[in-house]
Amino acid sequence: MGRRSSPGPEGLGPAERALLVEGARAFGLALGADQVAQFDRYLRELLDWNRRVNLTAITEPRAVVIRHFLDSLSCLLAFPAGEGLAVIDVGTGAGFPGLPLKIARPDLRLTLLEATAKKVRFLEHVVQVLGMSSVVVIWGRAETLAHDPDHRERYDCVVARALAELAALAELCLPFARLGGRVIAPKKGAVAAEIARARTAISLLGGRLWEPVPVTLPEEPERRFLVVIEKVQPTPPRFPRRPGMPVRRPLGVSRGRPMEGEAWSASA
Ligand code: SAH
Repeated sequence: MGRRSSPGPEGLGPAERALLVEGARAFGLALGADQVAQFDRYLRELLDWNRRVNLTAITEPRAVVIRHFLDSLSCLLAFPAGEGLAVIDVGTGAGFPGLPLKIARPDLRLTLLEATAKKVRFLEHVVQVLGMSSVVVIWGRAETLAHDPDHRERYDCVVARALAELAALAELCLPFARLGGRVIAPKKGAVAAEIARARTAISLLGGRLWEPVPVTLPEEPERRFLVVIEKVQPTPPRFPRRPGMPVRRPLGVSRGRPMEGEAWSASA
């Protein structure tokens, strides 16, 4: 890349570069020097902007490599074969997992969707300095954009990390997937209960769950999985419901008792 005007002192040192390259290789990727330079620039911009805009609680470069970059790249384990896939990242925040995927796989046709304006400004900036003019950055909510015919059922892969509990995530994401496409959501810890609560929602929305795909990251003992939902039927036009509803009243979660969706939001 040859850009020497990077802000901030902390970039990727030799040890972090090696960790990134080795970690990516475990997901079947051979990162070149230009790609490593893009990750370095992304890290510097993230840490620089993070002083003014709340983007991430993870600020140590080695931890960013593992818990943001490699965790994002793990989604590739559930990608279908083929070049030029259309991918949307719903609730991308500071660009995770979408931007690491695009750095590693420049052939992807990537759309980033984010509801918070300050984060969108960061995304527009970082996409520009990384020279990724083809990435589409959208400021908006999934509940609205998923009813836009230019986006509804248009994507091969819908990725979402830390967006919502699975039942709500399915309502926010499945409408974007084309028939035969899939939603890929990295999850940590005990996913079984979350999956059980989301089963009704997923079938209502036209999805079919895969067995969770186990993921291991360097130096991270916690169990991780990719939850993968294949789109097997069109999503009924009434979904997603109006903004806020998918999280407040998750589909298929019983109304007779305190709503899990609220418990989730309160503790998130
Ligand atoms: N995916 C990122 C950010 C997770 S935080 C990561 O893993 O680091 C969740 C993000 O989703 C927040 O930035 C929030 O603004 C955004 N978000 C939440 N609900 C949304 C919705 N309905 N539509 C679009 N973005 C949403």
